[in-house]
Amino acid sequence: MTPAFEAVHKLIKQLPGLGYRSAERIALSLLVEKKAQLEPLLKALEAAAEKIRPCERCGNISESPLCPICEDPKRLQDTLLVVERVPDVIALESSGAFKGLYHVLGGRLSPLHNIHPEQLNILKLDERLQAGRITEVILALPNDIEGEATCHYLQEHLLQAFPGLVISRIGFGLPTGSSLNYTDSPTLKSAIDARRSF
Ligand code: ZN
Repeated sequence: MTPAFEAVHKLIKQLPGLGYRSAERIALSLLVEKKAQLEPLLKALEAAAEKIRPCERCGNISESPLCPICEDPKRLQDTLLVVERVPDVIALESSGAFKGLYHVLGGRLSPLHNIHPEQLNILKLDERLQAGRITEVILALPNDIEGEATCHYLQEHLLQAFPGLVISRIGFGLPTGSSLNYTDSPTLKSAIDARRSF
Protein backbone atom coordinates (compact mmCIF):
# COMPACT_ATOMS: atom_id res chain seq x y z
CA MET A 1 0.00 0.00 0.00
CA THR A 2 1.04 3.62 -0.50
CA PRO A 3 2.32 5.90 2.31
CA ALA A 4 -0.77 8.16 2.13
CA PHE A 5 -3.05 5.13 2.40
CA GLU A 6 -1.03 3.76 5.30
CA ALA A 7 -1.31 7.08 7.15
CA VAL A 8 -5.13 6.94 6.89
CA HIS A 9 -5.22 3.25 7.78
CA LYS A 10 -3.13 3.87 10.88
CA LEU A 11 -5.46 6.65 12.12
CA ILE A 12 -8.63 4.62 11.54
CA LYS A 13 -7.08 1.65 13.34
CA GLN A 14 -6.77 3.80 16.47
CA LEU A 15 -10.57 4.20 16.67
CA PRO A 16 -12.26 2.03 19.31
CA GLY A 17 -13.44 -1.39 18.25
CA LEU A 18 -11.52 -1.52 14.97
CA GLY A 19 -8.78 -4.03 14.27
CA TYR A 20 -6.21 -4.06 11.46
CA ARG A 21 -8.53 -5.65 8.86
CA SER A 22 -11.65 -3.61 9.55
CA ALA A 23 -9.60 -0.39 9.52
CA GLU A 24 -8.16 -1.45 6.16
CA ARG A 25 -11.64 -2.19 4.79
CA ILE A 26 -12.92 1.24 5.86
CA ALA A 27 -9.89 3.04 4.39
CA LEU A 28 -10.25 1.16 1.10
CA SER A 29 -13.96 1.83 0.97
CA LEU A 30 -13.62 5.58 1.52
CA LEU A 31 -10.56 6.10 -0.65
CA VAL A 32 -11.14 3.62 -3.50
CA GLU A 33 -14.43 1.76 -3.73
CA LYS A 34 -16.99 4.27 -2.45
CA LYS A 35 -15.13 7.51 -2.88
CA ALA A 36 -18.41 9.45 -3.22
CA GLN A 37 -19.07 8.85 0.48
CA LEU A 38 -15.89 10.55 1.56
CA GLU A 39 -16.92 14.18 1.11
CA PRO A 40 -20.34 13.97 2.85
CA LEU A 41 -18.66 12.11 5.71
CA LEU A 42 -15.93 14.73 6.09
CA LYS A 43 -18.54 17.52 6.01
CA ALA A 44 -20.77 15.79 8.56
CA LEU A 45 -17.80 15.18 10.87
CA GLU A 46 -16.69 18.78 10.61
CA ALA A 47 -20.21 20.12 11.27
CA ALA A 48 -20.74 17.76 14.22
CA ALA A 49 -17.34 18.56 15.73
CA GLU A 50 -18.25 22.22 15.61
CA LYS A 51 -21.77 21.81 17.08
CA ILE A 52 -21.26 19.13 19.71
CA ARG A 53 -20.15 20.23 23.16
CA PRO A 54 -20.70 19.11 26.73
CA CYS A 55 -24.01 19.99 28.38
CA GLU A 56 -23.30 22.79 30.83
CA ARG A 57 -25.29 21.03 33.53
CA CYS A 58 -24.61 17.32 33.25
CA GLY A 59 -21.67 16.85 30.86
CA ASN A 60 -23.64 14.75 28.35
CA ILE A 61 -23.16 15.59 24.65
CA SER A 62 -25.26 18.48 23.48
CA GLU A 63 -25.72 20.98 20.67
CA SER A 64 -27.11 23.69 22.93
CA PRO A 65 -26.14 24.88 26.42
CA LEU A 66 -28.34 22.15 27.96
CA CYS A 67 -28.76 18.63 26.58
CA PRO A 68 -32.22 17.23 25.65
CA ILE A 69 -32.32 15.13 28.86
CA CYS A 70 -31.68 18.13 31.14
CA GLU A 71 -34.32 20.10 29.25
CA ASP A 72 -36.97 17.38 29.39
CA PRO A 73 -39.52 18.23 32.11
CA LYS A 74 -40.89 14.67 32.00
CA ARG A 75 -37.67 13.21 33.45
CA LEU A 76 -37.71 12.50 37.19
CA GLN A 77 -36.18 15.66 38.59
CA ASP A 78 -35.29 14.23 41.99
CA THR A 79 -33.07 11.30 40.96
CA LEU A 80 -29.56 11.74 39.60
CA LEU A 81 -27.50 8.91 38.14
CA VAL A 82 -23.74 9.46 38.13
CA VAL A 83 -21.75 7.79 35.34
CA GLU A 84 -18.17 7.91 34.21
CA ARG A 85 -18.55 8.69 30.52
CA VAL A 86 -21.02 9.79 27.80
CA PRO A 87 -21.27 6.24 26.29
CA ASP A 88 -22.68 5.12 29.64
CA VAL A 89 -25.53 7.65 29.27
CA ILE A 90 -26.19 6.41 25.74
CA ALA A 91 -26.25 2.76 26.91
CA LEU A 92 -28.65 3.55 29.76
CA GLU A 93 -30.88 5.65 27.51
CA SER A 94 -31.18 2.94 24.87
CA SER A 95 -32.01 0.41 27.60
CA GLY A 96 -34.89 2.60 28.79
CA ALA A 97 -33.96 1.50 32.32
CA PHE A 98 -33.71 4.97 33.85
CA LYS A 99 -36.04 7.98 33.73
CA GLY A 100 -34.20 10.47 35.93
CA LEU A 101 -31.32 12.84 35.25
CA TYR A 102 -27.63 12.12 34.66
CA HIS A 103 -24.31 13.50 35.72
CA VAL A 104 -21.18 12.62 33.72
CA LEU A 105 -17.98 12.67 35.80
CA GLY A 106 -15.67 12.56 32.78
CA GLY A 107 -13.41 9.91 34.34
CA ARG A 108 -12.70 8.13 37.61
CA LEU A 109 -10.20 8.71 40.35
CA SER A 110 -6.81 7.23 39.61
CA PRO A 111 -3.81 8.37 41.65
CA LEU A 112 -1.70 6.19 39.36
CA HIS A 113 -2.72 8.25 36.32
CA ASN A 114 -2.76 11.48 38.30
CA ILE A 115 -6.54 11.85 38.19
CA HIS A 116 -7.78 13.56 41.34
CA PRO A 117 -11.23 14.87 42.38
CA GLU A 118 -10.49 18.34 40.96
CA GLN A 119 -10.19 16.86 37.48
CA LEU A 120 -13.63 15.28 37.60
CA ASN A 121 -16.94 17.07 37.07
CA ILE A 122 -17.69 17.16 40.82
CA LEU A 123 -18.02 20.91 41.37
CA LYS A 124 -21.05 20.98 39.04
CA LEU A 125 -22.47 17.96 40.85
CA ASP A 126 -22.29 19.89 44.12
CA GLU A 127 -23.97 22.89 42.51
CA ARG A 128 -26.83 20.72 41.30
CA LEU A 129 -27.31 19.18 44.71
CA GLN A 130 -27.19 22.58 46.38
CA ALA A 131 -30.20 23.59 44.28
CA GLY A 132 -32.11 21.15 46.50
CA ARG A 133 -34.42 19.28 44.13
CA ILE A 134 -32.41 16.07 44.05
CA THR A 135 -33.12 13.56 46.81
CA GLU A 136 -31.31 10.48 45.51
CA VAL A 137 -27.94 10.04 43.81
CA ILE A 138 -27.28 6.68 42.15
CA LEU A 139 -23.63 5.87 41.51
CA ALA A 140 -23.23 3.79 38.35
CA LEU A 141 -19.47 3.46 38.11
CA PRO A 142 -17.38 0.49 36.99
CA ASN A 143 -16.77 -2.04 39.74
CA ASP A 144 -13.01 -2.19 39.36
CA ILE A 145 -10.47 -0.66 41.75
CA GLU A 146 -10.68 2.87 40.34
CA GLY A 147 -14.48 2.72 40.18
CA GLU A 148 -14.56 1.58 43.81
CA ALA A 149 -12.24 4.40 44.87
CA THR A 150 -14.41 6.94 43.04
CA CYS A 151 -17.59 5.58 44.67
CA HIS A 152 -15.97 5.75 48.07
CA TYR A 153 -14.80 9.30 47.59
CA LEU A 154 -18.20 10.48 46.31
CA GLN A 155 -20.08 8.68 49.06
CA GLU A 156 -18.02 10.35 51.80
CA HIS A 157 -17.95 13.73 50.11
CA LEU A 158 -21.69 13.82 49.38
CA LEU A 159 -22.81 12.51 52.77
CA GLN A 160 -20.75 15.15 54.48
CA ALA A 161 -21.90 17.99 52.23
CA PHE A 162 -25.55 16.90 51.92
CA PRO A 163 -26.74 15.04 55.00
CA GLY A 164 -30.05 13.31 54.34
CA LEU A 165 -29.31 12.69 50.67
CA VAL A 166 -29.98 9.07 49.66
CA ILE A 167 -26.91 7.63 47.96
CA SER A 168 -27.19 4.26 46.28
CA ARG A 169 -25.03 2.23 44.01
CA ILE A 170 -25.61 -0.14 41.09
CA GLY A 171 -23.21 -2.65 39.65
CA PHE A 172 -23.49 -5.52 42.07
CA GLY A 173 -24.96 -7.79 39.41
CA LEU A 174 -22.51 -6.68 36.73
CA PRO A 175 -19.31 -8.57 35.95
CA THR A 176 -16.20 -7.01 37.51
CA GLY A 177 -14.62 -4.37 35.33
CA SER A 178 -17.45 -4.43 32.79
CA SER A 179 -18.37 -1.19 31.13
CA LEU A 180 -22.02 -0.08 31.16
CA ASN A 181 -22.04 0.31 27.41
CA TYR A 182 -21.21 -3.37 26.90
CA THR A 183 -23.98 -4.48 29.23
CA ASP A 184 -27.34 -5.58 27.78
CA SER A 185 -30.57 -3.71 28.59
CA PRO A 186 -32.25 -6.28 30.91
CA THR A 187 -29.04 -6.53 32.99
CA LEU A 188 -28.83 -2.73 33.25
CA LYS A 189 -32.46 -2.53 34.27
CA SER A 190 -32.15 -5.16 36.99
CA ALA A 191 -28.91 -3.52 38.21
CA ILE A 192 -30.80 -0.23 38.68
CA ASP A 193 -33.79 -1.94 40.31
CA ALA A 194 -31.46 -3.81 42.67
CA ARG A 195 -29.44 -0.74 43.66
CA ARG A 196 -28.36 -0.58 47.27
CA SER A 197 -28.18 2.39 49.56
CA PHE A 198 -25.07 3.02 51.58
ZN1 ZN B 1 -27.51 17.71 30.40
